[in-house]
Amino acid sequence: MSSSGPPDRLCLPFFYAKCKDMIEANDSRLVSWVEVPADSDFPIQNLPFGIIEPDGAEPRPAVAIGDHALDLAVLAEAGLLDEVGIERTAYHAPVLNPLMQGGKAAIRALRKRLSELLRADNDVLRDDSSLRDRALHHCSAVKMRLPIEIGDYTDFYSSIEHATNVGTMFRDPNNALLPNWRHLPVGYHGRSSSIILSGQPIHRPKGQMMPDGADAPVFGPCKLLDIELEMAFVTLPGKPLGDSISVAEAEDYIFGLALFNDWSARDIQKWEYVPLGPFLAKNFASSLSPWIVTLDALEPFRVAGPKQEPAVLDYLQFDGERNFDIELEVSIDPDGEHDTVVSRSNFRYMYWNMAQQLAHHTVNGCNVRAGDMMASGTISGPTPDSYGSLLEITWKGTKPLTLGNGEQRKFLADGDTVTLRGHCSKDGIRIGFGEVTTKILPAK
Ligand code: MN
Repeated sequence: MSSSGPPDRLCLPFFYAKCKDMIEANDSRLVSWVEVPADSDFPIQNLPFGIIEPDGAEPRPAVAIGDHALDLAVLAEAGLLDEVGIERTAYHAPVLNPLMQGGKAAIRALRKRLSELLRADNDVLRDDSSLRDRALHHCSAVKMRLPIEIGDYTDFYSSIEHATNVGTMFRDPNNALLPNWRHLPVGYHGRSSSIILSGQPIHRPKGQMMPDGADAPVFGPCKLLDIELEMAFVTLPGKPLGDSISVAEAEDYIFGLALFNDWSARDIQKWEYVPLGPFLAKNFASSLSPWIVTLDALEPFRVAGPKQEPAVLDYLQFDGERNFDIELEVSIDPDGEHDTVVSRSNFRYMYWNMAQQLAHHTVNGCNVRAGDMMASGTISGPTPDSYGSLLEITWKGTKPLTLGNGEQRKFLADGDTVTLRGHCSKDGIRIGFGEVTTKILPAK
């Protein structure tokens, strides 16, 4: 049987009868009875998790399929999820955390069951028009909610291109990377309370800055407001305080990923960050995309990461391919009519992979909990058109970029809308993340 692309619809009954037990949720031959547009980020092979709020109803978990959201509360009430073994109350929660309490096995069983219910040959939901109408919401008819009650939030600094660019600009082009960088995934503890959902605008932050050449700091709206193109992963329940998660175990503790824009006020950052690192330049907001794509859905898109030189310590060594081929892009729309792509990067460029990040994070006995979030750090590629921040794209503002309406930008202007998008594609299957989009409002 060919593994390239979905089967002809006429052959479906034969195909499913033949390999019912072999079909996995990621199989590129799977087709859903829900119509999925060809360019959709959400085919049956994806099934990312989010929290929807249908009109007049309480927020509840859902998975995305094409242009629709499948309501897990409705399915659970109909008894269709009983065999999964997750408590029914988890399907009525306003965040995904209760669903995640059962760990990888429970999430995997749930995704498998949802895949079964959505397959072209499964008539349980397909032919029950009353239940189907209640369970399938068009995405335009539901509000999205922040999917996770985020506990602790950590931001890494794991792109060697980004770290090299920043080190070159601010320190020494000949010693751009600090001595620790190739030996451990550098990170800092951020703030979870100000992580917001795509669509929620932000106000330009105010703060303290030291203008070039001045001898005293000034206070006011930040002038150098920037983006950071990142991805963030969400953890499942970890181990008790004092225990460590090894690199080999790490992916069992990762639920999935979303797009993440780590807003940064560069002028505030430059003055405040010495010696303890980012503070108010970062914690005013970070924006998250609404659907969490499971690590399982990304399995077909594994690739090798950059070679790590010199060799890392034993506890950071890993087997196999631990990076993922996720195409990413950043666009800026200055006026609602000229959305302009300003960068194209890829998650595969990460020098430190997620398994190493989580292993390093817990090697001292630090515990992680269901719903902790760990962001990658700015994901820059090797060329200027793949840099993940305006700081790098415009090289500290020395090379302004031109938007579709002819306006120039060194950093963000009030009224700009920034959108990050990401997807994987292979064998005719596209697994996407949707987008995280945010408008910049003037300082309050
Ligand atoms: Mn960051």
